Amino acid sequence: MTYDPANIFAKILRGEIPAHKVYEDETALVMMDIFPQSRGHTLVIPKSASRNLLDADPAVLSAVMPLVQRVATAAKAATDADGIRVAQFNEAAAGQTVYHLHFHVIPMFEGVEMGAHGRNQADNDELAALAGKIAAQL
Ligand code: AMP
Repeated sequence: MTYDPANIFAKILRGEIPAHKVYEDETALVMMDIFPQSRGHTLVIPKSASRNLLDADPAVLSAVMPLVQRVATAAKAATDADGIRVAQFNEAAAGQTVYHLHFHVIPMFEGVEMGAHGRNQADNDELAALAGKIAAQL
């Protein structure tokens, strides 16, 4: 399996389509998932091109994991979540739908089931507000 630069996250990284950005540096982009599985569902996307974890450069993983931790902490504080789920899928059989490496940071709330994967599109204003709240905690 090879990397396809026409994938939607590559287009977002190139600025060809919009995103609710939370944070960006030379290593990664952090943005809101537009089909969130919970309030505050955030994606950490390394800029370096790889389909997923399986073909990723270990140096990229080393650089991005501290940011995943920071985003998890910030999302928990911003949403007042009770816990955080971090998820990452590799190939279709595992649930991957966008073939550019990314980490899901999903706030979890006591007694609230996680929503379906990639199903219900969130309100743009709500996503913009959440992006601002999470960014303020980073
Ligand atoms: P995965 O299934 O792990 O590849 O996750 C891809 C994620 O990207 C899903 O949770 C989708 O809801 C999300 N997604 C798809 N298109 C967009 C988009 N344009 N902006 C933000 N998130 C997206």
